[in-house]
Amino acid sequence: MELWYTEKQTETFGITAKIRETLVTEKTDFQDLAIIDTMEFGRMLVLDGMVMTTVKDEFVYHEMVAHPALFTHPNPERVLVVGGGDGGVIREIMKHPKVKKAVLVDIDGKVIEYSKQFLPEIAGELENPRVEVIVNDGYMHIHDHKNEYDVIMVDSTEPVGPAVELFSRGFYQGIYEALREDGIFVAQTDNPWFKADLIQSVNRDVKEIFPIVRVYCANIPTYPSGLWTFTMGSKTHDPLAVDPNAIPDIPTRYYTPELHRAAFALPRFVADLVK
Ligand code: SAM
Repeated sequence: MELWYTEKQTETFGITAKIRETLVTEKTDFQDLAIIDTMEFGRMLVLDGMVMTTVKDEFVYHEMVAHPALFTHPNPERVLVVGGGDGGVIREIMKHPKVKKAVLVDIDGKVIEYSKQFLPEIAGELENPRVEVIVNDGYMHIHDHKNEYDVIMVDSTEPVGPAVELFSRGFYQGIYEALREDGIFVAQTDNPWFKADLIQSVNRDVKEIFPIVRVYCANIPTYPSGLWTFTMGSKTHDPLAVDPNAIPDIPTRYYTPELHRAAFALPRFVADLVK
């Protein structure tokens, strides 16, 4: 018998993956969690029916959340990740020797636990001595830590369930206050095909709070539409002012010094959303 996992990306469109094995399914205190082994993309973390990360394509998203901000900030010593319980962004942050401490705050300890158990190639750096893992609501953490971080990365689920507040103006204001005077923040801001309104509202809110706001894209085949956006808010440093020749070579499979700039060149229909 064939077994397939289907994610409904909209009410009328989705993707489907043939499954080799279901490794774990659990209703945690915050969301429905599953880790399944798919023929095409390998092991896959699914939360509330949405693909979070897969072993085959996770490097794109995790590299593109982490490296543009960390190569824009001249001295990113203290970094915060809100969400990110699968550990992929933390793994990429650890490639930066300037980072003295990376704090991960995920609301659901089960995501961390099962990612360590079933996704070691993604979660492998969560035990790094430079990493502190906190199980808490990122919204609370932000408001309790003022003027503390050089870079903040929001690697949250879609604006549903516990993540709704992570796309609010109040949260972005809290991020601004949790950042040091030359801080930078970046958030995953979904796709322009099915979530144009979200991209526009986040961009409007962030522009009211940060002097420099840039949007960039990456191709993530298992995410809705495959075209993903990231929104960066910065107090002083502009990612487009970074000389690609000055970016050191680190082990990556998607991000490159040339892509650091190219990613910010938006397709016209996306640029029109964030004018
Ligand atoms: N890369 C994925 C994406 O773009 O959708 C996100 C992956 S990561 C596993 C998402 C994490 O956000 C989950 O582990 C979830 O528990 C966490 N999360 C959701 N709401 C949160 C909140 N309010 N505070 C902290 N973490 C939260």
